[in-house]
Amino acid sequence: MSGFKGLAVPGPTNMPFEVRRAMDVALEDHRAPDFPEFTLPLLADLKTVFRTETGHVFVFPGSGTGGWESAIANTLRPGDRVLASIFGQFSHLWVDMCRRFGLKVDAIDCDWGTGVPLDLYEAHLAADRGHEIKAVLVTHNETATGVTSDVRAVREILDQLGHPALLFVDGVSSIGSIEFRQEEWGVDVAVAGSQKGFMLPTGLAIVGVSAKALASRPANGLPTCFFDYQDMLKFNADGYFPYTPAATLLRGLRASLDMLLDEGLDAVHARHFRLAEAVRRAVGAWGLRLCAQDPRWYSDTVSAIVVPEGVDANDIIKSAYEKFDLSLGGGLSKVAGKVFRIGHLGYLNEIMVLQALGGAELAMRDVGLSFEPGSGVGAAISYLSEPGADAALAA
Ligand code: PLP
Repeated sequence: MSGFKGLAVPGPTNMPFEVRRAMDVALEDHRAPDFPEFTLPLLADLKTVFRTETGHVFVFPGSGTGGWESAIANTLRPGDRVLASIFGQFSHLWVDMCRRFGLKVDAIDCDWGTGVPLDLYEAHLAADRGHEIKAVLVTHNETATGVTSDVRAVREILDQLGHPALLFVDGVSSIGSIEFRQEEWGVDVAVAGSQKGFMLPTGLAIVGVSAKALASRPANGLPTCFFDYQDMLKFNADGYFPYTPAATLLRGLRASLDMLLDEGLDAVHARHFRLAEAVRRAVGAWGLRLCAQDPRWYSDTVSAIVVPEGVDANDIIKSAYEKFDLSLGGGLSKVAGKVFRIGHLGYLNEIMVLQALGGAELAMRDVGLSFEPGSGVGAAISYLSEPGADAALAA
């Protein structure tokens, strides 16, 4: 086939030419005397994106999964209790990892399509008078179901109860795209990856750690080596790394941070809202619904779209890929075959969203779904051409 392939999965995302160009460089000496001139401002600018002043943002070679592991291994002891909730494949996998590390997980099973159950978290933490729970886990944006949870509210619950547990946030598909405030929300470890909002190839775990979490490494804690915060901190202080950093990706990260900060984080969030809302309008016009069960949970980075009974969402994804060169996201685990996902995060504009919606229409019609051709695309265009379509964010 000719023409560009469309990438509308929720990560890896589309990579800007600026980022690609920034990585088209000769390999460099990461112990050179002038390397810190590059790395120190980079690490400082990451703090701006995580919105933390007193914390530190680590960049490990790895992916989001490695970031989860770093959170657990650097702050907890085997047998520690943690509170978590499962409402999608990624929140499930994080709990699975905790168990593999020998933690006792109070895992609250929720309907897929809902988010962190604030009332149950509150009840659970209130009942924990002895403060046995050492960490509370929040998947900020559950990529499998397109659900965003309220991190700030979890912090408020901890504060109201005077509960000292650390707050861990999976921000893999939120940080750099939708609002995230590490310092203000009192997040102790925030995990991101390079291949989503940062618009880079996979290969970096980007982890914001609060001063409290850095100071709270327990005696007899879990072993760490590759992901050791203290080793990394010691070297980062002078702009270096304890082992060979992924310097080429760091060059790309420089370009991506420049793009995010030039656009302005608030503008980035407004753009994500606006493009997500266009997708939501299309879904409504097709007569379909989102997996997210309530508007308060709608994700501005990914929409999981529920297909009608009797339709296999995988057929839509297959048709989109094989006939129209468009990658849509599949349903994972419990929602396999029941949803397809449109990723709308990172380097994205109106035209790219309309391309994904148009491709989804072609594929849905190809497998026999009936709706007015162009109805979703039309609804998105109507919304995007409304004056002040992004003013809703400010409201
Ligand atoms: N958490 C969330 C919310 C994700 O979406 C993903 C990946 O898509 C992960 C964690 C795992 O990240 P990675 O695949 O970068 O290891």
